Amino acid sequence: MNPSPDPLPTTPNPAIAASYRVRLAKEQFVFCAAHFITYAGDVCEPLHGHNYRVEVQVEGPLDENHYVLDFIAVRDAVQKITLGLDHRVLLPTLHPQIRVAADQREVTATFEDRRWVFPLSDCVLLPIANTTAELLARWIGERLLESIHACSVEVSVDECDGQVGVCRLSHPR
Ligand SMILES: [Zn+2]
Repeated sequence: MNPSPDPLPTTPNPAIAASYRVRLAKEQFVFCAAHFITYAGDVCEPLHGHNYRVEVQVEGPLDENHYVLDFIAVRDAVQKITLGLDHRVLLPTLHPQIRVAADQREVTATFEDRRWVFPLSDCVLLPIANTTAELLARWIGERLLESIHACSVEVSVDECDGQVGVCRLSHPR
């Protein structure tokens, strides 16, 4: 005769801590943008573009629906941010050597003896020090935290099929 099986637990085990998050990596989060960064002090890349892929993870307690957040609400919030970057030139306004100046019509960026001029409507001026994937992830994450209720977000920005900058942001407790 088989021994009787252990009864199934009737409640979650309170001794085991659980945390929850949702992860979204939608096709709609891809944005195409131009940029250039500097590195190693005074090396400045030529202008080029990427099809940036964004993934977000949002952590928080479960609500009355037993989910962290509505997937569609997160999707829409991220897409609103990435759409604002799509088909634009991304320029850093806090870079110590790249000077970015805008007037009503045009943006002029200069680095040493190089100069780029773009229509203002083609550009997004970002208050970051360099348009690296990491700092783009942070900028996107801060915008996301402003628009959804969450304890923390983690944003990944893949700029080239597997080269990913990641930033995790949390509200101070
Ligand atoms: Zn690049």
